[in-house]
Amino acid sequence: MSVFTHPEFDAHEELVFCRDAASGLSAIIAIHNTSRGPSLGGCRMWPYASEEEALGDVLRLSRGMTYKSALAGLPYGGGKSVVIGDPRTDKSPALFEALGGFVESLGGRYVVAEDVGISVPDVETMAKRTAHVAGVTAGGSGDPSPATAYGVFHGIKAAAAHRLGASDLTGIRVAVQGLGHVGFELCRLLHDAGAQLIVSDLNAEQVMRAKERFGAATASPDAIASVEAEVYAPCALGATLNDRSIPALKASVVAGSANNQLARREQGYMLKERGILYAPDYVINAGGVINISHEARSGQSEPYDREAAFAQVAGIGKTLSDIFAFAEQQGIATSDAADRLAEERFTAAGAKKAA
Ligand code: NAD
Repeated sequence: MSVFTHPEFDAHEELVFCRDAASGLSAIIAIHNTSRGPSLGGCRMWPYASEEEALGDVLRLSRGMTYKSALAGLPYGGGKSVVIGDPRTDKSPALFEALGGFVESLGGRYVVAEDVGISVPDVETMAKRTAHVAGVTAGGSGDPSPATAYGVFHGIKAAAAHRLGASDLTGIRVAVQGLGHVGFELCRLLHDAGAQLIVSDLNAEQVMRAKERFGAATASPDAIASVEAEVYAPCALGATLNDRSIPALKASVVAGSANNQLARREQGYMLKERGILYAPDYVINAGGVINISHEARSGQSEPYDREAAFAQVAGIGKTLSDIFAFAEQQGIATSDAADRLAEERFTAAGAKKAA
């Protein structure tokens, strides 16, 4: 297995391979970049088919966190951890305590939070062995989804203002794909702001709830990306923007919470050529990490301040407006504009730290 020459290695600062025989823990912690501050990122538990797959995932995800934190303006760098195992059968308190011990051994260079397969109680178990955790319930920020939805809502407002000249969302049609933790809360915010909703989910009960609560129209999972609407908000899976879906899109704005929305990087240009304004995923869905960073920063002594956290999350709208303007000025895709602006921020911070 190659590490330094791994295609996803990029310029990672540190990788820690964590093994605890007693609890059966096999995990990897990746620290991509700490030039803006300690690395912050969730822990994912997944039954990876191989160690190579786990390594590729953690490298890709931790790099992504560096870009996300930089554009969210946070004093954090990018990191991530993965536990190799099935979250339904392989969890134990000993396993998470052991992982907490490894996090603690990094002396604060990595701050752990929840991610796919990891729940708040798991992070609380890690906290028995380390102070470097975020996103725990007691006095903390808890579930990141409401903050994520709030950020996406402000992102949609900024994108609609930029592309459609809309001063508010009254009467704007938004097609929401996925009515989970983020999607349903987003629908509530959009409905309260006067938007018209078209929704889709694999779960028929959720669709029914949205219909009853928000008077939403519905579409099948196959059709939601191509319904008549001004905004398409992917809030389910990744890679929904692909060679098949992009030519069929009728919306002129794509702005949603899903991670890794572009199946391939170049598809940012397919959207640009079609005149569709794309709100880069890791910028618009940063509400959760902004919220968690407030808790991590407040430490053990100061209480978490929800109002201050949500005020910063609302700033995602302004960040996106700046990205849209920069992309236009440079004649590049918004996805590239976001990457360039993020790189400027974390490389400049690194240069300052080294000086
Ligand atoms: P979730 O699991 O609560 O909800 C996802 C919903 O999408 C489910 O209701 C599921 O039935 C539905 N779905 C799956 N496939 C679908 C399809 N083909 N068509 C329609 N619906 C489909 O997840 P979530 O926490 O709401 O997150 C949604 C997305 O946002 C994910 O991509 C996630 O990675 C991303 N995200 C979430 C957060 C957060 O704070 N929760 C933060 C950043 C990014």
